[in-house]
Amino acid sequence: MAADGTERTPARDAAGGTGPVPAGDGTRAVRAGLPDPVKHEPALPGPVFAAHFHLPGDATGPYRYGRDENPTWTLLERAISELEAPFGVAGQPGPNAATAGESADGGPAETLVFASGMAAISATLFSQLRAGDTVVLPADGYQVLPLVREQLTAYGIEVRTAPTAGDAQLDVLDGARLLWIETPSNPGLDVCDLRRMIDTAHAQGTLVAVDNTLATPLGQRPLELGADFSVASATKQLTGHGDVLLGYVSCRDSATATAVRRWRKIIGAIPGPMEAWLAHRSLATLQLRADRQCTTALTVAEALRTRPEVSGLRYPGLPDDPAHPVAARQMRRFGCVVSFTLPSREHAERFLDALTLVDDATSFGGVRSTAERRRRWGGDPVPEGFIRLSVGIEDPDDLVRDILNALDQLTV
Ligand SMILES: *Cc1c(COP(=O)(O)O)cnc(C)c1O
Repeated sequence: MAADGTERTPARDAAGGTGPVPAGDGTRAVRAGLPDPVKHEPALPGPVFAAHFHLPGDATGPYRYGRDENPTWTLLERAISELEAPFGVAGQPGPNAATAGESADGGPAETLVFASGMAAISATLFSQLRAGDTVVLPADGYQVLPLVREQLTAYGIEVRTAPTAGDAQLDVLDGARLLWIETPSNPGLDVCDLRRMIDTAHAQGTLVAVDNTLATPLGQRPLELGADFSVASATKQLTGHGDVLLGYVSCRDSATATAVRRWRKIIGAIPGPMEAWLAHRSLATLQLRADRQCTTALTVAEALRTRPEVSGLRYPGLPDDPAHPVAARQMRRFGCVVSFTLPSREHAERFLDALTLVDDATSFGGVRSTAERRRRWGGDPVPEGFIRLSVGIEDPDDLVRDILNALDQLTV
């Protein structure tokens, strides 16, 4: 990346060719996955509602049955591939393209969209693992992972866990078929060294999947660092409006992508065309939202750190956060989630009640700020007063004032 934040991208040049032109993240996001312009057609074609497509003769060609393929997915899958790829264009052999079936310069060979982040996660795990295999999961990852663990174990797959911090999953990696990484972790915001984890795993023949939900592809690009899969819930910041559930898997090579695609067909956890289209439409503003949310999250974290009732404050963008040195090496934006702990459950509940600009709701990454007492779900190993705060796009001053006011009300 150049000092001004631009990158060399083989986007279309002025003459309509594909010569490299510089393009920043905003340009990439707003153009991601758009078809070539066609006179009288919209820039982003509307959702295609079809259970089946005209199919005379042999059952060949891209669009046959709606569970397998849909043109609205195709455009969204291309868009996500472009954002997960280092140079903005997926699937085109670049100067460093290594083996056949591997994509250009560490970009995805293929992205597949799913009905939810969990559908994408399950598709990756269950398409790659067999009875007798071993998988390493984070001990502090997304709260549904313990249920996934139970299911994997029931299928005869050995599951080992270790914390995200300190790259501790490497300590239990021996002989594993797949390493599952979540960085930054949700909700604890620990970070592990992706390059080190991936290189170590690959050296012993272990596949690596990274849950990229919290960072989004504008925050970090796991495939560029060598990962085999970048998997995410697009329900969160990627789509950012809290109105769509969606997930995706970007696969580094086409052989693993074929297995994931097969799993999607078997399990049928496909997104609706409307959801896929809304997601694609939302990508256009991803860079604007991500920059605003990330900047405000740092401002909020800095305001929170001055407060005596706040402990355990975490934000990877804070220069003295334990995760910051590694995060600064591998992330370009530090996300919109800030976590911290108030003295008790009662303090946390009163704080959430007193907020007026922050909704008490789960999930994160939306344009409207949300916060919740994470322990109410029971799953995460966090203190009773633990708050996960997702910073939206409100005016930073308003948000900080609202949060500090709510804290003030705890002491009166
Ligand atoms: C929300 C989330 C998921 C699950 O995604 P859904 O779209 O809710 O199914 C997976 N991983 C992380 C890190 C998440 O935050």
